[in-house]
Amino acid sequence: MTISVKKVKGTLLLDGNQQAIEKAAALLKAGGLVAFPTETVYGLGAIATNPAAVKKIFMAKGRPADNPLIVHISDLDQLNQVADEPSPEALMLARRFWPGPLSLVLKRSPVVVPEISAGLPTVAVRMPDHPLALSLIRAAGAPIAAPSANLAGRPSPTSYRHVLDDLRGRIDAVIIGQDCRIGVESTVLDLSGEQPVILRPGGLSREELEEALHCHIPVAGSKFSATKPSSPGMKYRHYAPRAPLILITGSPERRFSLLNSLAAFYRRQGLQVGVLKSAAGRGWARTDQPGRLAANLYRLMRIFDAGGADLILIEETVYTGIGLAVMNRLRKAAKRVLRT
Ligand code: AMP
Ligand code: MG
Repeated sequence: MTISVKKVKGTLLLDGNQQAIEKAAALLKAGGLVAFPTETVYGLGAIATNPAAVKKIFMAKGRPADNPLIVHISDLDQLNQVADEPSPEALMLARRFWPGPLSLVLKRSPVVVPEISAGLPTVAVRMPDHPLALSLIRAAGAPIAAPSANLAGRPSPTSYRHVLDDLRGRIDAVIIGQDCRIGVESTVLDLSGEQPVILRPGGLSREELEEALHCHIPVAGSKFSATKPSSPGMKYRHYAPRAPLILITGSPERRFSLLNSLAAFYRRQGLQVGVLKSAAGRGWARTDQPGRLAANLYRLMRIFDAGGADLILIEETVYTGIGLAVMNRLRKAAKRVLRT
């Protein structure tokens, strides 16, 4: 039986066949850590009911213990195991959008290891829309706690190579899949309070959620929202590239022209300038195509870092659809925002 493609510094590379999934599930059941592809980004999984295994996730990533993890399930029955009496609203959204890039924050059931939720009375749950992720959860026979499979402070991984770059030797295995289709993390929707709040914009658009819930949904931490919900992850400095990232906002013509002049100016000084703009760029790195930009955003950040960019100039994209998630990540990564 050939299951491992190879072993890199103690981390098994498993291809996506059934035997490999069973090997990965056995590693999880033995308390190990396995990274796996999802439609959003690669996740780093441990069995959600095993406290020692869950603690290892925080150690492998260098993640602060008060930043909670998302629990991944493979069928709706598991939702009742993980969450304490999910509301009709939660069930409606689960039926409508799962499997998919939506994490629901609900009251936590006692079965879930408290460390997953950083001691909060809530738990974030989602069902990933990826055949390998779903097979793994089924083979493990239990919900899987999984944050993104990167070192804390690095961009989320959208290829198994990114996982190895960050975590080789620190985790038991990675399941090799294709590059992630969506490329940014799931939308985190808090249903534990009086009113639904988006804690993190992501792969499922705010518009789709508003249509399903027939109400306006505020985004936590945005200047448009009066609410102050508790998403512990929000207090941490997010990934920022090594080079200063300057976000250029304003009218499309003015921001495009400012970006071009700044890029030319700094290049004349001999600086290496990384650029993402709305026209004339490579097709997968253009800000006028938010879906393709989302799918390539973290890869581009890794390329800028590895290529030794001195400065990164990025043109603003839209705040609708997947654009809201892209702008959320860019604003967090930006050193400065220029308004034209
Ligand atoms: P990651 O899996 O790396 O994308 O991180 C998970 C995200 O979900 C972080 O931003 C967490 O703060 C958020 N999260 C997970 N569980 C909860 C929870 N119970 N309440 C609020 N936010 C949560
Ligand atoms: Mg993460």
